Amino acid sequence: MENGNGASPCCNGNGNGAAAAAAPPHVAMLVTPGMGHLIPLAELAKRLARRHGAAATLLTFASAASATQRAFLASLPPAVTSLALPPVDLSDLPRGAAIETLMSEECARSVPALTDILRDLRRRTRLVAFVADLFGADSFDAARAAGVARLYLFFPSNLHALTLFLHLPELDAAVPGEFRDLAEPLRLPGCVPIPGPDVLMPLQDKSNPCYRWMVHHGAKYREADAILVNSFDAAEPGPAKILRQPAPGRPAVFPVGPLIQADRGGSDGPCPCLEWLDRQPARSVIFVSFGSGGALPAEQMRELALGLELSGQRFLWVVRSPSDEGAVNDNYYDAESKKDPFAYLPEGFVDRTRDVGLVVPSWAPQIKVLAHGATGGFLTHCGWNSVLESLVYGVPMVAWPLYAEQRQNAVMLSEGVGAAIRVPESKGREKIAAAVREVMEGEGRGATVRAKVAELQKAAAEGLQEGGAAAAALAEVVEKWTCEEN
Ligand code: UDP
Repeated sequence: MENGNGASPCCNGNGNGAAAAAAPPHVAMLVTPGMGHLIPLAELAKRLARRHGAAATLLTFASAASATQRAFLASLPPAVTSLALPPVDLSDLPRGAAIETLMSEECARSVPALTDILRDLRRRTRLVAFVADLFGADSFDAARAAGVARLYLFFPSNLHALTLFLHLPELDAAVPGEFRDLAEPLRLPGCVPIPGPDVLMPLQDKSNPCYRWMVHHGAKYREADAILVNSFDAAEPGPAKILRQPAPGRPAVFPVGPLIQADRGGSDGPCPCLEWLDRQPARSVIFVSFGSGGALPAEQMRELALGLELSGQRFLWVVRSPSDEGAVNDNYYDAESKKDPFAYLPEGFVDRTRDVGLVVPSWAPQIKVLAHGATGGFLTHCGWNSVLESLVYGVPMVAWPLYAEQRQNAVMLSEGVGAAIRVPESKGREKIAAAVREVMEGEGRGATVRAKVAELQKAAAEGLQEGGAAAAALAEVVEKWTCEEN
């Protein structure tokens, strides 16, 4: 229920003690480390402020404090403030512990500090709800101890991945071996069947502590009063239909996406990539990027370069030094390439492709690139934010997944809704060139993918408009927060 100035018209709750009911409803949001988690939660907070007059405090972990994050937090409107949790000691964890383990441990160990912070927020504001994201469900213990009335989960990925998480406790018992050895694809209600090796990466080695953490989170999600998901029905009609139905023992699910970072206009000053794009014909460039931290093994990086060259398409490629010397997601906390990435490109590549390609190190303003009229395709690692950004700007995708849930995203995009063509596993230059060409100008599968993406772009925009499905879902949530106040 919106009335532009905050308080819902039906609301006459008495708020939290000293915090008057007239104060704006306040939401505390715990952000799992990573810009890919912060950006959609911050967008949710901005939407709650703009459309529903709410205020939000983003609670961040000490490990995530980077210059990029600080600048991002400083750019948020006054109704969205932030507060950093104190550091916790993780030095007892083994070197090489999975990122998901680090995040989950940091959250679990932050519960005492978080409890104090939430108690304080309850005293100072009309705190109507606590929202945790992805690997932060242990924080529900803190919210409960602090007496917060409503515990919500924000799931920044999609309905397929959420379905998997919610089924993990039973899958843990039902699948005795490794997922990668499954003879048949994994079939979950409403979902595109996922071949075993494409199932969520942190589940692929049951001896790794991060597997146990994922099962734990799946069980913990059931403690939420409801789950907000950064997706929309048209992108995942199967699981949307199932999850929109109430089910005993499972929290209500509200698809509130796509929430992507708003294009902040030209305020960041001149950018060589955008200036270069300005000089290219409409829809002629394939943008190549592997998210905030992804990097390729040296051999694949070489094949990609030669594949792009072979495709004859214009390209804009964000390169990082190869992943061979570390994990594929080594740059997760810091997108800066560790070494000069240009040194790993095939000899003469930059010179030979000078007229049709631009290679930039480490980072590009992705939203602006995808919004640019010269961009006609996106070769992506299928990180969910990247996928949503591509759909919002109507850019068809070439799927080249790396880690996390990216492989199953690639399956649902290519085999399910049909918004992408996946590069075959062998990653040879000819196959890469063929996939790129097909998405950019193919008359068969490529044309179907381009038409589907245009359809999804329209559906995404309609959902977010006043009265659209995502806007209505969020309005329903706010009404629950404010009208059923204790
Ligand atoms: N991003 C960007 N420039 C880059 C790489 C990434 O702006 O060069 C942004 C991108 O727009 C997206 C986020 O970083 O919002 C990446 O999130 P995603 O979920 O796609 O992947 P992750 O980084 O979590 O692997």
